[in-house]
Amino acid sequence: MIEPARTVDQVLAELEELRARDLPTHGGRTLAYVYDSGVAEADELGRRALAMYGSTNGLDPTAFPSLLHMESDLIATARRLFHGDDEVVGSVTSGGTESILLAVKTARDAAGVDDPVLIVPTTIHAAFHKACHYFGVDRIAVPVDPHTFRADPVAMAAAMDEHAGRVVLVAASAPSYAHGVIDPIEEIAGHTRERGLRFHVDACIGGWVLPWAGVHQSWDFAVDGVTSLSADLHKYAYTPKGVSLLLHATPELRRHQFFASADWPGYTMLNATVQSTKSGGPLAAAWAVVRYLGDEGYARLVRTALDGTTALVAGVAEIEHLQVVVPPDSTLVAISADDSCDVFTICDLMLERGWFVQPQMGFAGGPATMHVSLSAATAASVPDFLDALAAAVATAVERGPIVVDEDLRAAAESLDPATLDDDAFAGLLQVAGLAGDTGAVEVPAQMAPVNALLDVAPPRLREALLTAFLDHLTR
Ligand SMILES: *Cc1c(COP(=O)(O)O)cnc(C)c1O
Repeated sequence: MIEPARTVDQVLAELEELRARDLPTHGGRTLAYVYDSGVAEADELGRRALAMYGSTNGLDPTAFPSLLHMESDLIATARRLFHGDDEVVGSVTSGGTESILLAVKTARDAAGVDDPVLIVPTTIHAAFHKACHYFGVDRIAVPVDPHTFRADPVAMAAAMDEHAGRVVLVAASAPSYAHGVIDPIEEIAGHTRERGLRFHVDACIGGWVLPWAGVHQSWDFAVDGVTSLSADLHKYAYTPKGVSLLLHATPELRRHQFFASADWPGYTMLNATVQSTKSGGPLAAAWAVVRYLGDEGYARLVRTALDGTTALVAGVAEIEHLQVVVPPDSTLVAISADDSCDVFTICDLMLERGWFVQPQMGFAGGPATMHVSLSAATAASVPDFLDALAAAVATAVERGPIVVDEDLRAAAESLDPATLDDDAFAGLLQVAGLAGDTGAVEVPAQMAPVNALLDVAPPRLREALLTAFLDHLTR
C-alpha cells in the first residue's frame, strides 16, 4: 500500500488529535518534564524563532554565522550569570545529557589514563552514568549525607585519594534533581584544587534559577576550582526543548571536546558537540526567549517559582502522612509518605485530578518519593495543588499501602537480569502489569502496582524490566 498525500488541514488535525493524548506542556499542572513560565508572549516568540531557524544547520558556523552569533551571545550571558571571567568558553548542546556526556568525554580524553574514574555523589544525575557507560569510565558513587542528601566532601576526597592517578573528573550538583539541594561546591572544590583535578558542576536544572534566587553559598565559577558547568536552557530558561549549555573555565580545558576528521573523501568533519548536523531552531528559540525575558523577567519568574515552592513546602507539612524529605534550595521538592499509604497511589490519584507528579523509587535505604519541579506558572495554583494532594492522600490512606505479593517480592529480589532471555522478560512484563494477557505491551491505567513492584526490585532489575518494556513498546 502506498502512503496517500493529505491536505495541510488534515495533517494538522491529526497532529492536534495525537497531542491531546499527551501530558499538557502548559498550564502549570505537569510538575516534571516540562517548565512553564506562564508568559504567553515568551512561548509564542520561542515557537516562532524555532520555526524560523528549524532548517538551518549548526554543522558549519561559517555557513550559518547567525547561529555562531547567537551561540556567542548565550555563552556571554551564561558567563556573566555564573561569575565566569573572560577565559570562560562554552558550547550550545541539545540538552543536559549531551552537555554532561561532553564534559565527561573531554575530561577523559584530556587525562589520557588507562582506567579513567569519575567521582560523584550517589545523587548525581543518571546522565553521568550514561556518560561513564558510553565512554568507558568507572563511576565511583560516594554516599551522600543521609540527613541532608548533600554530597559528603570528606568522603569524596577520600575517594579521590583511593583512586589517585585515575581520577579524570569529579562532579556534583547545583541542585540535585531528586532532592533539590545544592552540594557543598566550595568544600569539594577545595579538595579537587589541592589535587589538581577537574571539577564539574551540574547546574542543568538550577542554572537559570540560582543566579536570581539569592542563595547563600557559591556554586558556580565564583568558586576557584570549578572547571566546567552545565546549564539547561530548556528547563528554567523556559525555552523550547533541545538546548543546554556546557561551559569550561578556559579554552585549554575545552580542547578535547572537539572532534575533527579529514580522513574521508567528503568535507572535513569538525564538531564541537555530539551532533553534527544540528538544527539551529532550539538555539534561536533560546536566544530569543532569553533576550525577551532579560534579567528582570527571570528575576520575577524565579521569585514567583520560589514563593510557590515555599508555599508548597509549608502546605505539605500540614498534610498528615506526608513529609518533605529535605527543605529544598531551589524549585524542586521530594515528598515522602508514612506507612499508612503509598506515594505511587497518590501519584495515580493526582493524575486523575489533572496533576502530574513524578514517582521516584526508593534508593539506598531512602524512601520512595514524589518529585515536584515547580514552574512559575504553577505558583498561582499551589493552593489547588495542595487541596488535590490532601484529597489524594485521604483516598490513598483508605486504600492502604500497596502490598507486593511475597512470592513476587522474593522473585524480584533474587532474579538476576543477566540470566533472562527475551521470553523471560515478556513473561515478567506480564507479571509486572506492563503487558496484557495477549502479551502486548501497554501503558497501564494504574501505574501504582507496577511502581510498587519495581520499587522492591533492585536497581539492576528495574533497569532491565523497563528496558524490556521500552523495547516491546517500540517494536
Ligand atoms: C535534567 C537534568 C539533567 C539531564 O538533562 P536532559 O536535558 O534531560 O538531558 C542533568 N542533570 C540535572 C541535575 C538535571 O536536572
